[in-house]
Formats: sequence, structure tokens, C-alpha cells
Amino acid sequence: MSLNLPFRENFARLIALPSVSSPDPALDQSNKSTIDFLSNILEDLGFAVEQIPVCDHAGKYNLVAQLGEGNGGLVLSGHTDTVPYDPDKWTQDPFCLTEKDNRYYGLGVSDMKCFFPIAMEVIKDIDPAQLHQPLYILATADEESNMSGVRALAGSGKTLGRYALIGEPTGLKPIYMHKGIIMESITVTGLSGHSSNPGLGRNALDGMHQVMHMLMEWRKDLQKKFTNEHFEVPYPTLNFGSIRGGDNPNRICAKCELQIDLRFLPETSIEEIRSQLHQKAKGALMGSDLTIEFRPVFDGVPPLQTSANSEILKIAEKLSGHPASTVAFGTEAPYLSQMGMETVILGPGNIDQAHRPDEYLEINRIKPMMRIVCGLIQHLCVKEK
Ligand SMILES: [Zn+2]
Repeated sequence: MSLNLPFRENFARLIALPSVSSPDPALDQSNKSTIDFLSNILEDLGFAVEQIPVCDHAGKYNLVAQLGEGNGGLVLSGHTDTVPYDPDKWTQDPFCLTEKDNRYYGLGVSDMKCFFPIAMEVIKDIDPAQLHQPLYILATADEESNMSGVRALAGSGKTLGRYALIGEPTGLKPIYMHKGIIMESITVTGLSGHSSNPGLGRNALDGMHQVMHMLMEWRKDLQKKFTNEHFEVPYPTLNFGSIRGGDNPNRICAKCELQIDLRFLPETSIEEIRSQLHQKAKGALMGSDLTIEFRPVFDGVPPLQTSANSEILKIAEKLSGHPASTVAFGTEAPYLSQMGMETVILGPGNIDQAHRPDEYLEINRIKPMMRIVCGLIQHLCVKEK
């Protein structure tokens, strides 16, 4: 399949612009060059373009571009950043779009820089005079690290369209639900002393054992109480991921830290699940002399639940030929929902190819994605309501 030049050139130029985001300051980069690149093209296409610096995150920007007027319309949304990469493990230059075996290779091709040139290719054939509702492009910063871009936007009180499509890699299947995620560090602190006499100290490992037992009981309760058959793993999960404590067999352990990952169903909020977790863990140490502290490992991702009857979901199902389903990873979608948009996630990449060396995108996914984007614009922006 041959794709015309502006698409390939825009795609290659976007891949060539480094925009890694990472909690490690040594790896973290500005996304300004990608935002400038998109701004120029969107201005040429007639969009009113706004670059918004992300507060307290120097060098990070969101872009909001609008074509047409009205209080509904469609937002085509994606993140501009990529994860860090390991140059030694790549067979080709991650910043050079490489065509091979009916695939495009490059850092972020699938997750998710492809979405912008695809959207632009569709938009260049749309006559702005035909729009009855506005069409927006939203490009965000830091999705891969802390979601500071979309968080800032949701917190700003800004309103955009009525519907949103996020082009994250879903293998061209519409996604309307995902679980929420929190990761929490739990530290139990006691007092060290000689192992020969337990009365000389307070053992943090003994205390952590009680906390873990309590959390395993709570996990059973959660899994009994909440199920949702739309998910591949249809219940909430709680994983003990790491534990560190003590130093020597003959010393009473003074400190023990456990880190857990908790994935919960859409009917619960981050605040609710975190407060229940704290209550359960504290309860396990009731009456002991040990202290317990909590620290979020990251801010958490809220769950997403778009109504199964939402118009954009119905259209996306029809255009893609796939029923709406769920994914196991978190996205920016819940923040767009908070801003009042009915949000669907659907993109041409596969999540299996994201975040790994030799990331690729099957070229035969591109034209179907263009047809889906075009169909959504026709239904939600062009057609008179
Ligand atoms: Zn992504």
C-alpha cells in the first residue's frame, strides 16, 4: 500500500523530534518541538492554535487547536511524548521512520505519534465551511510519566468538545472502559534491638506480616463484592510488588516497606480506594506499638467508564466493525470525561508493540484508521444535528 507524501513526511518529521518523558530528570525532555511542529501544520489547515505551558513543569506544553464554532463537536486527542528507549536494543535508529516488512519502525510510531499525521491527512480534505460543530486537536505532555499535561488541562476548567477520540494503540478496536490504578508504599516502623530478647525492640516485619494478611483478606472481599465481566480480569487486583526490611538475622527489624499495585473497577474512585486501603492497613496494627505511614508511588489513574449508549461509541463500533471492549492499561480518557467529553479510545497500533525496542506499526492499519477518523468527523462535526 502506498501512502501519499505529506502523511509520510509529517510522520517521519514527528518521529525525528525527541520527546521522551520520564520521572527520571536525566531522561526527561521538553515536548516543545513536537508542539511547534503540530502548531505550524494546524495553523496552515486553518485551526486557531493555542500552546499552553504546563504549570510547574518547565518545557512541557499542551496544544489545543480549534476549527469551526459551536458548543459540541469532536476532540481528536493524543499525547506527544514517548517513553525512554534503549538505543543498544534497537535494530535501527529509533528517531528515523523506517519502512520494512509492511511496517513502520520508530520510537512512538504505535504509541502514539502516528495519530497526528493520520488526523491531519483526513482534515486536509475537509472544508471548514461544512463544519456545523467544531473539530479540535488536543496534544498533551507527559502522558507516559505523570500525566501532568492532561491533569493541568482538566484542572483549568476549560471546556472543549462534547466527544473525544484518543488514538492510543488498541488494534483499531473501540475501548470505553478501563480500571483505575494506584500504587502505594506502606512503611511499618518499630524499634531495633538484639534478637535474643524480643522485649528490647518492636519488630516491623512482624507488623508487616499482619498488614499483608489483612490486605489479602480485604482483596478477597473486594473480589467477592466487585465484578465486571467486560474485563479480561473481571475483578479488582492487589499485587504485592516489592518488600524491603531489616538487615541482619540477629537484629530486631526496625523498618519494613511494602509497595503494592491496586487496580480497581470503574464504580470506585481513587480517593475511596486509597482511604479504604489506609483504614485496613492501620486496622491490622491496632493495639501494637508500631507506626505505619503511606506514600503514593505515583498520583494514580482514575478508572474510565463511558456509557455503552454514547453516540461516539456507537459510531466507533460501526466504523471499526468491532464491539466496544476494555483494556488493562490506564489512559488520559478519565480526565477528558471529567471535562465533560464522552470519550472513546481507538488507535491503529498494538499495545504489545508499545514501550519496547523496535516498536512498529503495521502499515495496513493506517488507511482503516483514516476512514474511522473521517467517519467520526462526518457524523459528529459535519452532519447537521
Ligand atoms: Zn500512549
